[in-house]
Amino acid sequence: MSVIVIGGGIVGAAAAYYLTEAGLKDITLIEREKLLGTQVTQYCSGGVRHQFNTEINCKFSIESMKTISALAEKIDYKKYGYLILDMEPGMTEPRVQMQRKLGINSESLTPHEIKQRWPFLDVTGVISGSFYAEDGIADPSMLLEHYETNAKKKGAKFLLETSVKRMVKEDNRVIGVETDKDLMKADWVVLAAGVQSKELGQTIGLDIPIVDKRKYVFQIEGFDFDHPLVMEIPLGWYIKKEGSDALIGMSGKVETKPFAKQEESMIETVEASINRVPEVEKKGIKKTLSSLSDETPDKHAVIDSPLPGLIIATGFSGHGFMHSPATGRIVANMVKGELPLIDISELKLGRQQIRETVAI
Ligand SMILES: Cc1cc2nc3c(=O)[nH]c(=O)nc-3n(C[C@H](O)[C@H](O)[C@H](O)COP(=O)(O)OP(=O)(O)OC[C@H]3O[C@@H](n4cnc5c(N)ncnc54)[C@H](O)[C@@H]3O)c2cc1C
Repeated sequence: MSVIVIGGGIVGAAAAYYLTEAGLKDITLIEREKLLGTQVTQYCSGGVRHQFNTEINCKFSIESMKTISALAEKIDYKKYGYLILDMEPGMTEPRVQMQRKLGINSESLTPHEIKQRWPFLDVTGVISGSFYAEDGIADPSMLLEHYETNAKKKGAKFLLETSVKRMVKEDNRVIGVETDKDLMKADWVVLAAGVQSKELGQTIGLDIPIVDKRKYVFQIEGFDFDHPLVMEIPLGWYIKKEGSDALIGMSGKVETKPFAKQEESMIETVEASINRVPEVEKKGIKKTLSSLSDETPDKHAVIDSPLPGLIIATGFSGHGFMHSPATGRIVANMVKGELPLIDISELKLGRQQIRETVAI
């Protein structure tokens, strides 16, 4: 069985790796850049967490974290924990109950308990929160390298500096791709082109709902944040350790205009940071990182086979690194005609796009 994977970010590389692990021999990954991971993956903050507010995302985390834990040393996985602060009533408890039912032993905390455990936090306005010690941070580039090296060892081919122009459909079946160099046929095409999956989908008449937006993160110099990743909901603000510095960002906030909005975004993110971690005020911004966002309207990935010969794995909405191990395995399951590791029917392309619960 031959498979072409379009895209050499963390998701495409995971797919190539798990396809070879599953014993498939004829795997070709196509990446338009000189290196893997230079689009969204290189901006990934490396957060890995079990705490989501939908069961499907929790299940992806549970499966993926088994791999992340097994590779802990290799990919520098550190269990700093995630502390989620809820600013609205009735959010924490149902989320924690749902997680505990799935075996994720997160804790529900009052603002007083939060202040006692992390005295540097200002808990003004916090209604409640949750913490899970097994959440943390790992290195996306190391996981990418692991996938690439081992997929190649098992015979996968990686075609770099090769751009897919369109997918090729015949009799309502995807039969291959046309690149800037060649027409290539395969039994399966896996579309893992991140943000560009939208335009590649259009080449065969599919509408893949990737939101066309941009995210900013800011590196705070000399602020060694040796604490859990702290996240505030619904703002989506977060702070995390980044070497001997800290990173701040607003995952809930994505901007439509590339650079005009950068200053505004910086002001809002820094203000939110100072409100929650007053120490930030004494520090300076060392670096601004800006990336396209790989979000869908409901912040859940699309993993689906809407046509014979095609598997879509894209739109990971800020969770693609941490969910890449489960995704790679599921792609291999689908190619082999097996039942997927996790029931992915909720992640279908044609689902109702705005769901009741939006993944944080
Ligand atoms: C600021 C920021 C912070 C984040 N933090 C986290 C985090 O803490 N934890 C987490 O799990 N996730 C995080 N994410 C999300 C995560 O980085 C993404 O979900 C993930 O990297 C998506 O991987 P991907 O392989 O789907 O896409 P990409 O990395 O975008 O890869 C797609 C690849 O396809 C290639 N491609 C596109 N079109 C073509 C074509 N026509 N022909 C050939 N190749 C093509 C591109 O060049 C690219 O290399 C963050 C994202 C951002 C922006």
